[in-house]
Amino acid sequence: MSFDLASRCTAQKEQHLYRTRLNLQSPQTPEVTINGQRYLAFCSNDYLGLAAHPKVIEALSLGAKKWGVGGGASHLVIGHSEPHHELEVALAQWTKRERALLFSTGYMANLAAVTALVGKNDTVLEDRLNHASLLDAGLLSGARFLRYQHNNADNLQLRLKRSQGNTLVVTDGVFSMDGDMADLPTLCQTAKAHQAWVMVDDAHGMGVLGRTGAGLVEHFGLTVDDVPVLMGTLGKAFGTSGAFIAGSEELIEYLIQFARPYIYTTSQSPAIACATLQSLRLIEQESWRREHLNSLIEQFKEGAKHIGFPLMESQTAIQPILIGNSEAAMLFSEKLKQQAILVTAIRPPTVANGSARLRITLTAAHTANHVEHLLDALASCWKQMSETTP
Ligand SMILES: *Cc1c(COP(=O)(O)O)cnc(C)c1O
Repeated sequence: MSFDLASRCTAQKEQHLYRTRLNLQSPQTPEVTINGQRYLAFCSNDYLGLAAHPKVIEALSLGAKKWGVGGGASHLVIGHSEPHHELEVALAQWTKRERALLFSTGYMANLAAVTALVGKNDTVLEDRLNHASLLDAGLLSGARFLRYQHNNADNLQLRLKRSQGNTLVVTDGVFSMDGDMADLPTLCQTAKAHQAWVMVDDAHGMGVLGRTGAGLVEHFGLTVDDVPVLMGTLGKAFGTSGAFIAGSEELIEYLIQFARPYIYTTSQSPAIACATLQSLRLIEQESWRREHLNSLIEQFKEGAKHIGFPLMESQTAIQPILIGNSEAAMLFSEKLKQQAILVTAIRPPTVANGSARLRITLTAAHTANHVEHLLDALASCWKQMSETTP
């Protein structure tokens, strides 16, 4: 009688799927220290460089002085304080919705929304490449769970014909491992024609896309009528932590009553909410970060094209280089590390079998010189790789 954990871990190693963690000895900035060595990192989701911004740090420390550190209890008991309320109001205004509801993590926000909205006798339709938290939420909901082909509204329509009960169509806004954008106008139209609701997880669009940074929904000029359930995370472009769902008054009140991952957990630190409010102000008022990020994306794509890299269909800060085999992806990442460049290899099951990749992310805290440096290192490692693997 044994769980035999060790042999399962060994099997992961043999398939080049074993995961280890880096121990960061510096804040989350482009230049990081690990094991006393300096690296230039291109794998953070801190897209606007706000995680270590002085004003955000100050808001956190002032928030802690005023409100203490711990949330103390769940929101429905006595853990809901003024900074949480203020942040919810500000997020609702920013996303042009009646209400917003704050969660401690994006994973929980997704579990909460999907499992509260659909159950037995309902249907949830998800893009094949959706984030793991959305797929888990769909399975946990107990609803009929169907996946449609990536970003394919025709395929969604076929699935919609087989749906029963209340139907929720769920998609990433910007796909986390590919960087491409969901074709929301078409997906929303298709869903509407079948009286289905659309939920968008805009973890990688919020703060970065749209005129005021309000994400992919703003980018396409869609309303709460097109996308009734909008989810955003605060741990990426906001540089803090947590997440939110924004929608109608009715939706938010319903979630407060029925969403178990909202009800049965301690509220996030009110000091974090203070920091996030400060981030939101920077996101709304200082559009130069988005402009700078876009110019770095252009620079990277141009440079990569020049070297002859197989880039994917992405206009966003996520610029993956598809390698295929997990061992080769690990080797590429290791070679870059030897040149003091940090890019993580993303392997199955995070991505499909045979589609391991280097997931390069750019942020507004990078400079044009940083990107130049990355391109040089990529070119030289790419050359080494093609010499050793015919
Ligand atoms: C990161 C991410 C999440 C999870 O958010 P956390 O706040 O990190 O738990 C959910 N969905 C997508 C698409 C993500 O990239």
